[in-house]
Amino acid sequence: MSREAEILDQLRSIIDPDLGKDIVSLGFIKNLRHDEAGRVSFTVELTTPACPIKEQFKTRCEEAIRALPWVTAVEVALSARAREAGANPLLARAPGLEKVRHIIAVSSCKGGVGKSTTAVNLAYSLARLGGRIGIFDADVYGPSLPTLVSPKNRELFMRNELIQPLEFEGIRLMSFGFVPAGPGGGAAIMRGPMVTQVINQLLTTTEWGELDYLVIDFPPGTGDIQLTLTQLIPITAAVIVTTPQQLSFVDVVKGIQMFDKLKVPTVAVVENMSYFLCPDNGKKYYVFGQGARQKLIDQFGIQNSFEIPLEPEISRLSDSGTPVVLADPDGRLAKLYLDIASSVVREVARIEHGGLARPKVSFSAGRGIVLTLAGGEERIAAPADVRRACRCAHCIEEFSGRPLLDPASVPDNIYPRSITPMGNYAVAISWSDGHSSSIYPYDQLLKLAK
Ligand code: ADP
Repeated sequence: MSREAEILDQLRSIIDPDLGKDIVSLGFIKNLRHDEAGRVSFTVELTTPACPIKEQFKTRCEEAIRALPWVTAVEVALSARAREAGANPLLARAPGLEKVRHIIAVSSCKGGVGKSTTAVNLAYSLARLGGRIGIFDADVYGPSLPTLVSPKNRELFMRNELIQPLEFEGIRLMSFGFVPAGPGGGAAIMRGPMVTQVINQLLTTTEWGELDYLVIDFPPGTGDIQLTLTQLIPITAAVIVTTPQQLSFVDVVKGIQMFDKLKVPTVAVVENMSYFLCPDNGKKYYVFGQGARQKLIDQFGIQNSFEIPLEPEISRLSDSGTPVVLADPDGRLAKLYLDIASSVVREVARIEHGGLARPKVSFSAGRGIVLTLAGGEERIAAPADVRRACRCAHCIEEFSGRPLLDPASVPDNIYPRSITPMGNYAVAISWSDGHSSSIYPYDQLLKLAK
């Protein structure tokens, strides 16, 4: 075997945990060199400069190559793939967004749940991971970005018919709060369709420049304004912010469904003001009860849900114009926001690389529910087993988990009338017995299949 083949062979043992493939097949290895003296050097070209596990990749590469007996020295450099021109035709049409790689919408069903606070702290955490970041505050009625950050210069100016964004601590910013209100009160008097046009205009005529992630603080709600915006803006992924009250679960579902209509995957749910950490005894108090985390996993297969505590410090710092992740970068809260950012980066990388490895689900009258895996392999689940495993509120009592469905009441010859993808990780099935509220995460279906 040639030395180059030996090197690549070693590197093939390193699997990208998010993409499920080895780094050689993924095309990450560039500029591979080796010489007679046993010196090896190469670059690992990752999908994003914000990759949260880039140092781990580097160490594992070094270890793998050092294991070859003839190697005397290893040099591994890290880089990130340049954005392909015209990769996203929708972005290419908007002059200000041309060089933006991914747009992340941070959304909530109601105002006041901490959406803007989350968006800003997420953005600064993404920047800390190594990405070039922008924040667009799309809340026309209650822009909060001007309070949450403190750019020195707050005056906007145009260059080549594009508005130049403001900047604070390396992040580019735009908000209606920075735009001087015209005569007649500015945004407050606008209604639906006009609002979406104005938001889209400010977004697309801002010269964002090269960005890895543009975080959009969405207007709160799941109505027409939000739906139209989701249509107009090529969003890569959504993060939904909620609070832990029991009823809020319904809100999260509404949010997931809204983005789902336009095929925008919800990659994380943040439960804000989730618990109170008692400074005297260090205990977590879930004042509003333990939130929806388990239900999100069970019903939608969303593994990435995060809890942020109710913490006066978050509010105090936000009001003073310094996000908590900047004020205390090594603190407990910064760590929590960094976890959210890492998970967003990893999920987006998976989406970019041909999506999440979810099976195709269909029904075949003779065979049952057929799950076709990415490699073409098929697994079959019996429709009656799947119907009996339904975890919707009619079949399982919401808060106690007590079964409400009598398995004997489900006929063995039941079959799905329709199967439709629901969010990123689940399908909704409507059954021949008229039951239509079943949602199954792919994981659950795979467990039920043979
Ligand atoms: P939204 O964007 O959903 O309207 P904001 O981010 O503006 O909500 O937050 C509403 C208020 O709650 C702000 O005063 C903010 O400082 C405060 N806040 C947000 N998150 C927290 C938290 N985890 N702990 C304490 N206060 C918070």
